Formats: sequence, C-alpha cells, structure tokens
Amino acid sequence: MDIESRAVHAAKSERAPFGAIVDPLVMSTTFECPSSSDYESRYSYSRLGNPNRAALEQIIANLEGGSHSFAFASGSAAASVMFQALNPGDHVIAPRDSYYGVRAILEQIFVRWGLSVTFVDMLDLVAVKHAVRPSTRMIWMETPSNPLLRVSNIGEICEIARKSNAVTVVDNTVATPVLQNPFVFGCDFVVHSTTKGIAGHSDATAGIVVARSQTDLSERVSLIQTKCGAVPSPFDCWLTLRGIRTMPIRMRSGSQTALAIARFLAEHPRVEVCHYPGLENYPQHALAKYQMIGGFGALLSFQVAGDKKTAIAVKNRLQLITRATSLGGVESLIEHRASVEPAGTQTPENLLRLSVGLESLDDLRADLESALAE
Ligand SMILES: *Cc1c(COP(=O)(O)O)cnc(C)c1O
Repeated sequence: MDIESRAVHAAKSERAPFGAIVDPLVMSTTFECPSSSDYESRYSYSRLGNPNRAALEQIIANLEGGSHSFAFASGSAAASVMFQALNPGDHVIAPRDSYYGVRAILEQIFVRWGLSVTFVDMLDLVAVKHAVRPSTRMIWMETPSNPLLRVSNIGEICEIARKSNAVTVVDNTVATPVLQNPFVFGCDFVVHSTTKGIAGHSDATAGIVVARSQTDLSERVSLIQTKCGAVPSPFDCWLTLRGIRTMPIRMRSGSQTALAIARFLAEHPRVEVCHYPGLENYPQHALAKYQMIGGFGALLSFQVAGDKKTAIAVKNRLQLITRATSLGGVESLIEHRASVEPAGTQTPENLLRLSVGLESLDDLRADLESALAE
C-alpha cells in the first residue's frame, strides 16, 4: 500500500475495545499477570512495553521499511542509544554540520566514555574514506542536514562503510519517511526526532531508532531501551500516532510551500543565498532529487544580505511566522540558529532557519516580503 494509506491504517491494533477507531490511551504502568505467571499477555510493566508505544514502533518500522523500531523519550535519546550500543574504543565518523545536539552528545558525553570521533564534511567522499580507521564502527549521516540543508550521498557512504565493516545511521528527521527512505540506499539504521515532522503539531517529544534487520547492534539498542528506560510516555506515543495519520499530506503540502518560498527568497535582493535542496541551482539538487521522493521538505534556511544584526532584525519584523526553535510543525517557525548553537558552529551568523508550516503561501510570502523590505 502507498504511504498515505499505511500512515492511516498500519498502527491499528487488532482488538481495540468497543470497536474504537482510535486506539485507547493506556496509561497503566503495570499489567495483570496471567495465572500461569508467565506473562504470555504481551505487557507486564510500562518501561518494558506499552500498547501505544508498540503501535508507534510498528507503524514507523512499516513506514521506513525496517524490521524493528525502538521508541525513546526524544530524538536526542534515540541518537544517544546508538552511541551507547557501541564499545569503548570504537570510532565514529559524523558530519561536521549535523544537528548541533548530536555533535554535542558525541563530544561532551561519549568521548569521555571511550568513543573516538572524527567530524568530516560528508559531501566530500574522499574525506569520508580517509577518516576510516580499523576501529571505525559507525558512520553517522544527516541528510538533508539541519540547518544548512546539505545533502549527502547515502548510497556512496554506505558503500564506504560496508568495505570497512562499519554500520551506517541516517538521521532522517528533516525528510521524514514520506520524502526519503534511507534503507533503500543500504543504510543499517534510521533515527528520527519524531518531535518534528512525524508528530507534526509541536506537542509531543519523542524519538525513534529503526533497524533495517535484526542484528547484534539492534539487539543492544533493544536492551538499552528496556534496561536504561529512556522511553516515551504513552501519551506522547498516542499524540505522535495521531500526527502520523496526516504526515504524508502535511509533508507534501509543506514541501510545496517551502519550494515556492525558497524560489521567492533566492530571487530577493536582500537575501544573499537561500539553502533549499529543491532549488534547481542548489549544489546537491540532482542528488536530492535522486534520494528524495516527491518533495524536498518543509525546512529551508537563508542568509540575509548583511550581518547578524540585520538577520535578527528581519526575524523580529515578522508578524505571522513565529520566532521559536524546532521544525516540522503546522505553524511556521523561524530561528536565528547561530544564537542557539555553541561557539565554533558551522552556521553562518546571518542565517535564518525557516520551518514552513501549513499557512497559505500568500500569507507567508507577504510576511517575509514586508520583513525584508525595510
Ligand atoms: C531536533 C533534532 C534532533 C533532536 O531531537 P529532540 O527530539 O529535540 O531530542 C536530532 N536530529 C535532528 C536533525 C533534529 O532536528
């Protein structure tokens, strides 16, 4: 079935009570033990499993085309578990311009626990190859990247990893499973902050790890999920599931509006450059077209002609577009990224990141037009 149909139907439990169309929210932390005391019934304790979490894991594995998935309390928790699943001494190759939180997790936490890390430009395949060591165990990708929207070649990087016995992980948060399925290009794990486009309503924090197949590493992810317990609440799972039902149409609509806005910004005299993989003259446009399906996402960024002050002033003149962090929600959000990222960030000082929501193109364009005009 097509993703629109799977997004609506793939999580329905077989035995919803009363014939309910929507699964009930199950907040119980514990479940009655059958008299045989062997817990044949699937659930015993909510850290180990919960029906709403199981439904979320089932549908995201289905939408990504993976075999298993494991839900966590945030995208950051999901990313952390991938690193926790490695052994001290293992080497990780990660993108220099990834979501800064992932970089911070590696640098500030996992290096102290014995991982070594090399940050590279993932668009430079020679640099990726050169970064490989005998101890390299994982190559982390994020494409399109947040906030620069850089597109890396999943298939080529997976080929490098295969030759070196490393596993590959793609942070697919910006694209969502609607616009990109990294497993098609041979990666081993997909990670999402479902807080963003998957849940889509800025009201549920969660993350997920999807495994292409059951392996020693996926078994470790499962072990860490239930033993360490960074699991999402049933309510966050329930809200995320509700968001997923409309995700395909939200992502397609957001992509369409984002493309029109990117074209408008790219032509605007007060914009130095607009970063959006859907623009025909974007450096990785051909690759994005090859890797992505039917749209380039609802996230774009642009550099205002001028300095940090000019960029912040533009942002502050917006009336409809809200000043807030995060992305992938129904409301458009704008952020001066360099202000929230640590020193040494790759993000230019005059860059604004815009997450395009479901407002009309005309209203969004008019808001940007008047903010840029002054
Ligand atoms: C937001 C985000 C994360 C972190 O997710 P949280 O749910 O905020 O912990 C990871 N990767 C990307 C690309 C993100 O945008």
